[in-house]
Amino acid sequence: MTLSGKLGSSSRPVRIAIIGAGPSGFYAAGALLQQKDAHVSIDLFDRLPTPYGLVRYGVAPDHQKIKSVTRIYERTMKDSRVRYFGNVDLGTDITHAELISCYDQIVYAVGAQSDKRLGIPGEDLKGSFSATEFVAWYNGHPDFCHFQFDLSVESVAVIGVGNVAMDVTRILAKSVAELKTTDITDYALEELKESKVKRIHIFARRGPVQAKFTNPEIRELGELEIADVIVNPADLVLDAASQAEMEGDRTARRNIETLQMLAERGPTGKPKQIIFHFLRSPTEITGEAGAVSAITTEKNALQETGTGYIACRGIGSYTEYDVGLVFRSIGYRGVPIPGVPFYDRWGIIPNEKGRVTIDHGDAVVPGEYTVGWAKRGPTGVIGTNKPDAVETVKLMMEDVKNAAAPLPVDGFATNRSVPHTDGHGRPGDIMSLLNNKGVNFVSFADWQILEQIENERGERRGQPRVKITDVDEMLRLIQSAREEPVLP
Ligand code: NAP
Repeated sequence: MTLSGKLGSSSRPVRIAIIGAGPSGFYAAGALLQQKDAHVSIDLFDRLPTPYGLVRYGVAPDHQKIKSVTRIYERTMKDSRVRYFGNVDLGTDITHAELISCYDQIVYAVGAQSDKRLGIPGEDLKGSFSATEFVAWYNGHPDFCHFQFDLSVESVAVIGVGNVAMDVTRILAKSVAELKTTDITDYALEELKESKVKRIHIFARRGPVQAKFTNPEIRELGELEIADVIVNPADLVLDAASQAEMEGDRTARRNIETLQMLAERGPTGKPKQIIFHFLRSPTEITGEAGAVSAITTEKNALQETGTGYIACRGIGSYTEYDVGLVFRSIGYRGVPIPGVPFYDRWGIIPNEKGRVTIDHGDAVVPGEYTVGWAKRGPTGVIGTNKPDAVETVKLMMEDVKNAAAPLPVDGFATNRSVPHTDGHGRPGDIMSLLNNKGVNFVSFADWQILEQIENERGERRGQPRVKITDVDEMLRLIQSAREEPVLP
């Protein structure tokens, strides 16, 4: 006998899968749990055993305060309506069709896992990396821990002036003493200990007012133990359009004040130098024996566009800088998921305020939603994902309200145009699906075993944690703890 119940009733909660356990996934779960009008049951998936996405693998190791946001996410996981399935990769371990056979609604919170390209010659030479790769490496992301960066070179180029560029620069410019109390990985610290990098050239294609970094990040550069910041005072002479832009933008005003202070201070004899070059676009990366040896940049002039955006254009004056490494820090972009729409131009999942659409500006895909960077592109800080998730969740709840009612307890919302049962008219059960496929999924309790091990190792060494970076090791540790639980 099947009991019937309206979708969202206590007898028939809305079954929701959230793909991606980073900040945007957790904020979506948090917003869903606060809904008073609908009962929900949430499964949060991540392709890695470890949750927290960019908080763990993106936020810089010397920014521990930002990482404390995971306490809020832990509270979300304490709610019995939420389950965690780590080590489950959508597209490999479970297909899109299988996923929709198990849930009424799916939320893609997959972030932006790749990077934008400069599109200039030499970009693929050995020694030319995306900042994403370097960040993921020093933060111990399992997919990147085997990368090698030749830090025996004296000069490095960082392209772009966003906060990621600031993170990369800071990590390259900090002393071992400054880094060793962070949760940077051991292998990265070992490499940085031997680093011969003396000059970090930062190239901004536009002017200082248009720089994307926020003020604490630029101020932090000025406070480093072993690195001076070099700013050319001439770069801080603003044209009328930049002056007007700055007056309406508090962050830009404070950034200019900080840059002026740094320009006045000049070099103080510290062993490393961080050199800002404004109004310079890279045009070519050249190499010797297949590896980066120099970067050529073209001088730019700013140009008003009439839309309020101040663009730049090359003015044909070129300068070559000797560098042995290049880090492109010009923004992230999404990666398509098999079966899920993707708008290649913007590198996002096409959507209308969070409802996934078939293409950009096209019809809605029923029951599928997106949040975070996958929804809006790689902008904003961690907290930006909260209102973003609330916007999507509001639409999800509207769709629940409008779903056909009542439903059999085992049935799905009928406003979906996609097949959504196991072929027998019953919703699939994710546990048995994963078990039948032999997927070794990780629960939140399993993750907490790893977390405890990492924290204990860290405590012994005066670090917040010592990250486990190998997925097999993570799974081994979890397995042995499952077999021999530690008694209280
Ligand atoms: P971002 O803030 O968008 O900065 C990208 C930079 O690359 C900009 O300076 C941009 O210049 C430049 N750029 C883009 N295309 C270029 C090209 N073809 N040639 C030369 N330069 C180019 O991106 P992000 O640094 O990757 O950061 C992503 C998001 O994460 C941001 O919202 C950031 O604030 C956030 N984040 C925050 C923190 C923190 O709070 N501490 C840390 C890391 C990241 P234009 O302005 O001219 O386009």
